Amino acid sequence: LSERLSGVFDRLTRQGALSEEDVKTALREVRVALLEADVSLPVARDFVAAVQAKATGQAVTKSVTPGQQVVKIVHDALVDTLTGSEDPGALKIDNPPAPILMVGLQGSGKTTTTGKLAKRLKERDGKRVLMASLDIYRPAAMQQLQILGQQIGVDTLPIVPGENAVQIAKRARTQASLGGYDVYLLDTAGRLQIDQTLMQEVEDVRDAVKPRETLLVVDGLTGQVAVEVAEEFDAKVGISGVILTRMDGDGRGGAALSMRAVTGKPIRFVGLGEKMDALETFEPERIAGRILGMGDIVALVEKAQETIEAEQAERMMRRFQKGQFNMNDLRTQLEQMLKMGGMESIMGMMPGMGKMAAQVKEAGFDDRILKQQIALIQSMTKKERANPALLQASRKKRIAAGAGMDVSELNKLLKMHRQMADMMKKMGKGGMLKQAMKGMF
Ligand code: GDP
Ligand code: MG
Repeated sequence: LSERLSGVFDRLTRQGALSEEDVKTALREVRVALLEADVSLPVARDFVAAVQAKATGQAVTKSVTPGQQVVKIVHDALVDTLTGSEDPGALKIDNPPAPILMVGLQGSGKTTTTGKLAKRLKERDGKRVLMASLDIYRPAAMQQLQILGQQIGVDTLPIVPGENAVQIAKRARTQASLGGYDVYLLDTAGRLQIDQTLMQEVEDVRDAVKPRETLLVVDGLTGQVAVEVAEEFDAKVGISGVILTRMDGDGRGGAALSMRAVTGKPIRFVGLGEKMDALETFEPERIAGRILGMGDIVALVEKAQETIEAEQAERMMRRFQKGQFNMNDLRTQLEQMLKMGGMESIMGMMPGMGKMAAQVKEAGFDDRILKQQIALIQSMTKKERANPALLQASRKKRIAAGAGMDVSELNKLLKMHRQMADMMKKMGKGGMLKQAMKGMF
């Protein structure tokens, strides 16, 4: 694949903004990569279309080819899709005892994963955990969980022959309350294929214990099937998250993307082996790299972008040391602050500015104000920006009106500019500026 790609990239060496043609050519290869990684066809198609729209017209980083740039954009979009808004490791398990229902097909890794999760909750989160097997069909299933429990030092519900799944679940709840457990994990029975009896049983258990989390365990190597299973379980039982097992295999894990795109459910953990500690929090970056299989290119573009930012910072610093800090510089700084999450975080990074950061916070300095200040600078002429000393009353009025603000706001901005320019100069002499800027870029 990478050979095919480099062929494409050789043909695409023009610089500038990404043309529709550049993007299309590169995305054709990306689409193949996604399908090879077992991303389902409709998901791959939609994903590529969304990136096509987003990428066209974007600037190409210096020393990078358009094809490489597209790969980086695709990678970032993958990470975005996979990330969602939840914290994957944080399960809803307050109000003890919290029931967690483990569902999925037979052989997907439910029982193993129940053990892994119990171990993690016990060791990482310091929870008291009880496990119960509701698998009344396979004779050895309950013993399997019991043995895992002994291995990891987690209690299992005593086995009582003749009970049905709902009865076992209720007994687990009673035991968990009486025994002072924080969490109880219910390992349900699976089938080779989804059938009505299985679904009904899982629904009955759900209604009996009202699980705080219903985690679907799916084999990460099964691609398309995994997605269908997830849709089915979500429609019937309602799932709160997904655990992908067998991600230690050589599959590329495209199921993760399909799953996320189709169900919208967060992927919580990935199983990376048969051992009880082979469970990790889902990391979008890692899976995205694996799905795309173009890690080298992504790293290369990131490096190029960093280099350019470092060069810009270096140039700016040399000017600041000479005492040159005009309105254009201030604007760059303000924009950087917006990008990096506000004034406070930046100033906090600069030595000697901690106090100022606190004042800034008190003054209610937020993104809105940063944007207003940038607007004020934009409404100055080129000359005024280069030489703020020009700004007398009439010019100030014009600028403030141009940005739809008061002259008093402009005065505040000018004052800030003077203070920063002074500070840059002082710090430049002592070599402190270099230190400070290192932290910022
Ligand atoms: P269940 O039928 O859903 O309960 O599946 P089991 O938990 O019994 O697991 C079936 C098989 O898959 C067992 O041999 C497990 O050791 C294996 N297994 C489960 N999770 C993983 C994983 O993340 N990686 C690998 N390599 N094997 C796994
Ligand atoms: Mg099992």
